[in-house]
Amino acid sequence: MLDSVIRSASDGAKLALELVGLRQEIDRLELRFSQAAATFAKTTFWDDEGSNSALDWIRFNCRMTSNAAADRLTVGDRLANLGRSAQTMESGEIGFAHLAVMARTAEAVGEAFDEDRLLQLAKLNSPGKFHYKCLHYRHAVDAKAYADAQERLAEERSLRMSTAEDGCLLISGLLDPVGGAAVRTALEPLARPSGEHDDRNREQRYADAIVELAGGGKPANIQVTATIETLKGLAGATAAEMEFSLPISSTSVQRMACDCSVTRVLLSQESVTIDVGRSKRVVSGGLSRALKARDGSCRWPGCERSASMCDGHHLVHWIDGGETNLDNLVLLCRRHHRMVHEGGWQLVKTEDQTIVTVGPMVMFGMPPGPDQ
Ligand SMILES: [Zn+2]
Ligand SMILES: [Zn+2]
Repeated sequence: MLDSVIRSASDGAKLALELVGLRQEIDRLELRFSQAAATFAKTTFWDDEGSNSALDWIRFNCRMTSNAAADRLTVGDRLANLGRSAQTMESGEIGFAHLAVMARTAEAVGEAFDEDRLLQLAKLNSPGKFHYKCLHYRHAVDAKAYADAQERLAEERSLRMSTAEDGCLLISGLLDPVGGAAVRTALEPLARPSGEHDDRNREQRYADAIVELAGGGKPANIQVTATIETLKGLAGATAAEMEFSLPISSTSVQRMACDCSVTRVLLSQESVTIDVGRSKRVVSGGLSRALKARDGSCRWPGCERSASMCDGHHLVHWIDGGETNLDNLVLLCRRHHRMVHEGGWQLVKTEDQTIVTVGPMVMFGMPPGPDQ
């Protein structure tokens, strides 16, 4: 068993040859498939069968994605313009993926298509890079058509949001390239792993990043209403309320209240009182600057999140009498702030001012009673 996994270097070389050979065979078949698909599209068979288009028939019956089927149809359609490219593919110098990009480009630029020029580029670049260069080519040939195509993409923009039964937000949508790039530019820095210990997968990091971006560190945009019992996490207390959300837990509301400059927490019965008192809890102005200057980044051991992505965390919560001063505050990135409040981790400041983390307590069986 193990032998089949650990192979010698010569086995690796043999496999490499096999892979390249197989891919060439598959590419040749793809070309035949494309020719057949384009001819098939000219028949009425798919219409007789009740399909909306040849593409739909192929997609469904050949079990392909729309994009894959459309690529084959375009290659088949444009083969008359792609004679030399098809030959070059037969000899293994470019792949079918290059040919698909060529066909798409031919379709987009029409008469201006220059096969020889693009074929040179195809030979020198991976399919991904070649696609990118072809976009530049399309712009160079007809900037207006390129802009119109971009504009059509922008028209298709959409973002759908719906709340699932359990309160989770479902998001799906499509952004045009420029809008998409703006979102990626904003999200990518926030979605970087926050140190070696960061075990979140990419999707989780993106999810955290978009929430972080929405919070934006802007003061008091989110408003939560809670009772004092909820804020103190007392047994029997109701959950807190927030617009667009199902009731939220007391541990979450404690986190939100921890750095009042991020979220404003109103106490439901005596909101006027807490709103006045709020100014004393807010980590802002000079105190915020001093805290950022002292800590520089998240204080969780090993975390590298910079101060601008952090909240002020009260080591002893103000609801339990902790003071809003430098001594009782540390910077925590949003993820680690959540791990402390919702995740049950504790932060302990040692005598030399370093921060030590203590994992959540795991209880086996029933907790002991007061007299045990
Ligand atoms: Zn906190
Ligand atoms: Zn952190």
